[in-house]
Amino acid sequence: MIIAVDGPAASGKGTLARALARHYGLAYLDTGSLYRAVGQAVLAVGGDPTHEGAALAAAKALDPTRIDEKVIRTAEAGHAASLVAAMPAVRAAMLDLQRRFAARKPGAVLDGRDIGTVVCPQADVKLFVSASPEIRAHRRWLELNSSGVSLSEAQVLEDVKERDRRDAERAASPMRPASDAHLLDTSDLSIEATFDAAVAIIDKAMG
Ligand code: C5P
Repeated sequence: MIIAVDGPAASGKGTLARALARHYGLAYLDTGSLYRAVGQAVLAVGGDPTHEGAALAAAKALDPTRIDEKVIRTAEAGHAASLVAAMPAVRAAMLDLQRRFAARKPGAVLDGRDIGTVVCPQADVKLFVSASPEIRAHRRWLELNSSGVSLSEAQVLEDVKERDRRDAERAASPMRPASDAHLLDTSDLSIEATFDAAVAIIDKAMG
């Protein structure tokens, strides 16, 4: 059983995907962490994340078992991730790894931008999670604040909008709902209500 959870930055897809994996006893992969780790690896050596050679070398050298969660969660790593993720060669280097993960038994939940459209078009259930940019920025701002990062909410909103634009407008695997994806707008939903709505969709789809 493969569940694809796609959606824009700070939509709540990660929290939802993790909870779904636990509920159904499936493995979980946050594919954004792969692109973040590649972007961060380029920054760590003083490289330029818009430079394809540097990004591809970092992608090829990536060891997914050694990703430092703390380092890749910064706004800079998120920004660098969306730059390297626009490069077809970097995406190609990440594809095999994601597909091998998806093939795990008894199944997996993967979250990202192109899981339902490119990585796992054969997924049993596809969810596309969204919320208004203002609400997503507010959630991300609260999160950053509680971890001691002092960015203004307006700055976070700018960052969210810029990342949405780049992810949706790029030529390589742009962020978009698969034609058979279930749309889940979490703007007015709590984490619990989002989870309940997703479980209802999945249970119905699986019969
Ligand atoms: O999901 P998260 O916000 O951590 O992802 C960071 C960035 O990685 C995104 O803005 C996007 O550019 C890229 N990404 C992607 N495809 C995925 C997952 C993430 O392009 N499947």
